[in-house]
Amino acid sequence: MTVPARPAKGAAHCSACEAVCCRLTVILQPEDHIPDHLTTYSPEGLHVMKRGEDGWCVALNSVRMNCGIYESRPTVCRRFVMNSPYCKAVRAEYSDPVAASVRHESAA
Ligand code: SF4
Ligand code: SF4
Repeated sequence: MTVPARPAKGAAHCSACEAVCCRLTVILQPEDHIPDHLTTYSPEGLHVMKRGEDGWCVALNSVRMNCGIYESRPTVCRRFVMNSPYCKAVRAEYSDPVAASVRHESAA
């Protein structure tokens, strides 16, 4: 979601990713100004980005696989750093959810 100019060789990069972080729950902050039709409320009452039936955020440009509201994207999305440990974990979980769950259990 945050794209450094020069990615390290072999590192995760948004340009070669299926925007899997855009499948996560994005909790909106008071400073976010997102059009109502792109947001909803979780069962817990949290104001969140809406997701489609495919699991991706409805603000995703599904042709280019990048954020369709990049300039005004939520705070949580701005803080999500490409190639960070969380980015790598989300990618690993998406590409191999069974292995990722085993890793989670081993770490517990
Ligand atoms: S998961 Fe990481 S590499 Fe993929 S789009 Fe999100 S920030 Fe970029
Ligand atoms: S608002 Fe943009 S960056 Fe954030 S989850 Fe949706 S598509 Fe991804």
